[in-house]
Formats: sequence, structure tokens, C-alpha cells
Amino acid sequence: MAVQIITVNKVRERFQPAGKGVWSSVPDSDWHSWIWQQQQRIKSMEQLEKAINVTPDERLAFEKSNEMFHMGITPYYATLMDKDDPNCPVRQQSVPKTSELTILATDLEDPLAEERDMPVPGVTHRYPDRVLFYTTHNCPVYCRHCTRKRKVSDPGSAAQLAQLENGLKYIEGNKAIRDVIISGGDPLSLGDDRLEWIISRLRACDHIEIIRLGSRNLVTLPFRITDAFINMLRKYHPIHINTHFNHPKECTREAFDTAAKLADAGFTLGNQAVLLKGVNDDPAIMKELMHRLMLMRIRPYYIYQCDLSQGISHFRTPIEKGIEIIEALRGHTSGLCVPHFVVDAPGGGGKIPIMPNYVVKHEGKQWTLRNYAKKQYTYYEP
Ligand code: SF4
Repeated sequence: MAVQIITVNKVRERFQPAGKGVWSSVPDSDWHSWIWQQQQRIKSMEQLEKAINVTPDERLAFEKSNEMFHMGITPYYATLMDKDDPNCPVRQQSVPKTSELTILATDLEDPLAEERDMPVPGVTHRYPDRVLFYTTHNCPVYCRHCTRKRKVSDPGSAAQLAQLENGLKYIEGNKAIRDVIISGGDPLSLGDDRLEWIISRLRACDHIEIIRLGSRNLVTLPFRITDAFINMLRKYHPIHINTHFNHPKECTREAFDTAAKLADAGFTLGNQAVLLKGVNDDPAIMKELMHRLMLMRIRPYYIYQCDLSQGISHFRTPIEKGIEIIEALRGHTSGLCVPHFVVDAPGGGGKIPIMPNYVVKHEGKQWTLRNYAKKQYTYYEP
């Protein structure tokens, strides 16, 4: 059954189609096929040179980093890159730079201690009621800022069927778990049959209430979200989808249409952005991103401080930058557009919210607070 887009109105016209760029001769049937997009991913320097004017730094970075963390860019996402500007926010997220080769003494291979808290391979169980379930290490685009660089893009470390089965058995047998986040890599790199096998097993558990899918396909390969996929997934509602837009440039007509289909089919959509130096460390850019997301019916959920993974220090901003961004959002736009700014604590401490300090003074039952415009107000407790 075809999934109709209901939201075909003036709002849609504000989103520009990505188009096909240098792939203009490719038939639509191929271009809109997620299998074709996966097969045609840019993985070599030769392919990259057809899409952009590669700089010497990017060339050297590719030669030195590709063994450790592969390059992979879908033609769709590549069309969003500026051909000539190496500082293009989309290009920075997908094309290697030599700054990746710098490993600081404070960098960590597994900054969130996800491997330590694995009772069985592929399941991180840190909080009693929630687990992270890793289902694949493949992604349409290998984001240069990925927190799981240690295993993402490495096919040798991908979850095999036996590992998935063991993970499912662990979740099925642990009645304290009520929330499962299906993650990766990008779980939508799996086929519909494999995903349905996983999700139907989870939905069959009486103790599982929340099923979340973490996927960047809405950003990097929206064609993956086919009508057949949506019709399969909606059988297992409620399903919550979290995605990862980092810049307004990624909010295309194609992404808008896909988000519209998902929202119309009853999925809740949230966004987890990562604060990245040179990409989105600017209050005006973040505000625009949040506004675009709201038009797409994607609720801004988190802005993450860039974590301590190895080789991504060039993306890190001071924590003050995140506070500045929240300060520029709260009160200056709708509350719905204000996500939580969090530091995912190194060593597995979980997400710690950081925000501007709105408490000026607190004495006994008297609180002096300041608002977004820095005006002070007093609140008296009974
Ligand atoms: S989609 Fe997610 S898991 Fe995959 S490379 Fe990007 S950040 Fe990493």
C-alpha cells in the first residue's frame, strides 16, 4: 500500500530538492533506490573527485585514515556538498581531514564505556530499564565525528545472526527492561525482513513498552524509508524514531517528504544534533536548524557536546558554546524548539544536562531568578 504524503502545502515549498548534481543522467528509478544509493557510495578518491574538487589535505587524510575509518558517502548526501568549499558543513561531516589523525592524550577509544556495560555482545545495559541494542556497523554515510569510530565501518565487527539472537534472548529474559533503543551503526542498513524479525520479537515481550530506532537515514539516505518499510514498521507501534540532523542544509525536500510520511504514519520523530566546530557552532545556524526541524515535525531532543572519541578533537567546541546556544534559543523562540544540551559523561556516567544559570540568588524561601532578557524576578515559596 502506497503511503500518501498529507502535508503537500506551502510549507513543503520552503524545502529545496537536493537534486542529482553530477548524477543527473542516472534514471530516477535508480536514484530513488536505497540499494542503488548504498552500492554507489563514494568510497574511493577517484569517486570523490567526480563529486567535488578535493583539496590536498582531504587527499592526504583519506590516504592515512581510510584503513582505520572508511569513507562512505551516498550520492544523495554528496549532492549537498559544496564542490569548492572544504568548510562546507556537509563536506566536513563526510570527507576526511588530516586533523582526524591527531589523537589527544585525553581522547578515549570507547568514551561512553559502552563495551564495559555489555552483559552479552551487542547489548549495552547500563540503566535497569533501558538497553542499547547494536544491530549493524554499517551506515550510508560514515560521519567523520562518529562516536563509535572504534567499530562503525568495520564489517568484521558487525553483529552476526547468532549475536543478534543472543541479544534478543537477553532482552526477552530480562523483565526489568522496558525500553530498547535499536542502534548501530545505522539499523536501517539492515533489510526490512531482518528489522521486522528484531522488532516483532521485541514487541512480543510484555515487559517492553518503548521501542526506539536511532537512524541517520532521514539525513543521509531518505530513500531508504520506503512505503514498504513504513507499512512494516507501523504494525509494531508505538515506535519512536530519533534522527541526527546537524545543519539546515541537510533539511531538503526529500527529507521533508520522508519525515512527513513517517509523521503521518504515526511515528514520533526526534532529533539528536551534535555540536560541531565549524559546522553548527553558531546560535543563528542552530536556531534555523531547530525551526526547520519543527516544520518537518521532528522535535529537537538533544544537542550533544562532541564527546572524547579519538580523532574528532577538531570538532570539539568549549562547553560554553553549547550554553551560549541554549541561551540564544530559550525565550527567543518557541519552547518546542529548545532541545536539551547534554554532555554524555566520559566513562559511562550518562547524559548530563547543562544549561545557562537562571538562578541569581536563593535565600531560604526567596528565589531571585532572571529571564531570557536578563530581567530579574523574585519568587516566594509558601
Ligand atoms: S550514522 Fe551514526 S553510527 Fe553511523 S557513522 Fe554517522 S554518527 Fe556514526
